[in-house]
Amino acid sequence: MNTQHTPGIAAARLDADELAQNFDDLHAPLAPHEAAVAADRCYFCHDAPCITACPTDIDIPLFIRQISTGTPDAAAKTILSQNILGGMCARVCPTEDLCEQACVRELAEGKPVEIGRLQRFATDSLMEKNVHPFTRADATGKKIAVLGAGPAGLSCAHRLAMLGNEVVIYDPNTKAGGLNEYGIAAYKSTDDFAAREVEWLTDIGGITIETGKRLGPDMTLDALTHCFDAVFLAVGLGGVNALSVTGDEKSGVEDAVSFIKELRQADDLTSLPVGRNVVVIGGGMTAVDAAVQSKLLGAEAVTIAYRRDRDAMSASRYEQDLAASHGVKLMFNVMPVAVHGNGSATQIELEYTQTKDGKLTGTGETMRVAADQVFRAIGQTLTADTGLDLDGRKIAITGAGRTSRAQVWAGGDCAAGGDDLTVTAVAEGRDAAIDIHTTLNGSV
Ligand SMILES: Cc1cc2nc3c(=O)[nH]c(=O)nc-3n(C[C@H](O)[C@H](O)[C@H](O)COP(=O)(O)OP(=O)(O)OC[C@H]3O[C@@H](n4cnc5c(N)ncnc54)[C@H](O)[C@@H]3O)c2cc1C
Ligand code: SF4
Repeated sequence: MNTQHTPGIAAARLDADELAQNFDDLHAPLAPHEAAVAADRCYFCHDAPCITACPTDIDIPLFIRQISTGTPDAAAKTILSQNILGGMCARVCPTEDLCEQACVRELAEGKPVEIGRLQRFATDSLMEKNVHPFTRADATGKKIAVLGAGPAGLSCAHRLAMLGNEVVIYDPNTKAGGLNEYGIAAYKSTDDFAAREVEWLTDIGGITIETGKRLGPDMTLDALTHCFDAVFLAVGLGGVNALSVTGDEKSGVEDAVSFIKELRQADDLTSLPVGRNVVVIGGGMTAVDAAVQSKLLGAEAVTIAYRRDRDAMSASRYEQDLAASHGVKLMFNVMPVAVHGNGSATQIELEYTQTKDGKLTGTGETMRVAADQVFRAIGQTLTADTGLDLDGRKIAITGAGRTSRAQVWAGGDCAAGGDDLTVTAVAEGRDAAIDIHTTLNGSV
């Protein structure tokens, strides 16, 4: 980040102890007796709506019953058989929009069964024992290349390996995990959980991870389809949309994902510079994460500026409330028009917006907010040039991730359709793996 000499942006706004406390686990794990009480609230519904609401179709009543009968390891196996990254998903899933929103106790009483926390209780219990619960099927002799070691790639690789195939994952980063390692808010994935989960997952065997390798400069799809029986593309969305307003080149205007990446990899949080007045442009999880973490680093005033109204924000109401509870100000119906300052940002000019005939326009009325750091969190784009057919700005797919090219599948954020969520990426990786395996070997 080129902000070391930008006035208003400074490191060590808080001391190490305060920072450690601020970035502690967002939700403390449940103790066994708390898990028993939480599990007891489940009605074990017959046509459980929570299962339908889970993108990975976890048998939620079954795993909750297994917790209540004192067999958390069996519960973990129920979860992991559908979602091998069930540990991370228990930490990052917007359960308030998924399983817990559909829970009958949410509908009846406004208080759902705590499915996410129970899932974490079960998966942590198994992973702490360093046990890998699955074994591999007989070798098929088939070899698959997976591009990208994020949730989609890891999930696909694990399922392929479990079915007896050999997998090589290529990723340009130095660590595997994708956004689990470099993007998810630090307080959602504490104690190096992302790295520990990758290590645990690859214990199945049959998976080789080669870091520092990128599709494009280091290898082509032609070469990969020649050397491997199939290729799964799970390259995510690496590019960040530009702000495209006057003054957006000023020092202090940055991409929120890079800021979060730096934060996630920092050994010493006191070394991370943050503005006194921070403005985040955007309305998704990235915007919320950049804003909350700026506040936790010691920024005095943090504002999220979003161009539409609250209901249109892709960050859930829970995430919005989380930001507000940390003192982040949420501004709706405003869009940036200019960044002011002499070389470095000092203010951002925002214009009020309105929607006319379904089209968002500026009203002409503007206002200024003090901002020595401005984060862009206005969506990400596909960077890998695959030569495949696109649907909008993502790779076009049909069925379980089939692309326009034979032998090549795609899933996760880089593929069209589906929400840009960790759990969706896991589901798509798993389903593509089954389709690849069936295509290559005839049956599962
Ligand atoms: C800041 C932030 C916070 C988020 N918070 C949440 C959250 O709390 N909950 C939630 O559910 N979702 C969250 N998301 C969304 C979630 O992280 C993604 O939907 C998910 O990681 C997508 O998984 P993926 O495997 O498709 O892609 P990624 O996780 O992006 O992984 C893609 C991998 O591909 C690699 N790659 C890129 N280009 C190439 C190439 N050319 N060749 C080979 N490899 C390549 C990358 O290095 C990366 O490791 C967040 C996203 C962001 C940006
Ligand atoms: S909907 Fe709620 S109460 Fe019913 S099975 Fe799912 S978690 Fe249990």
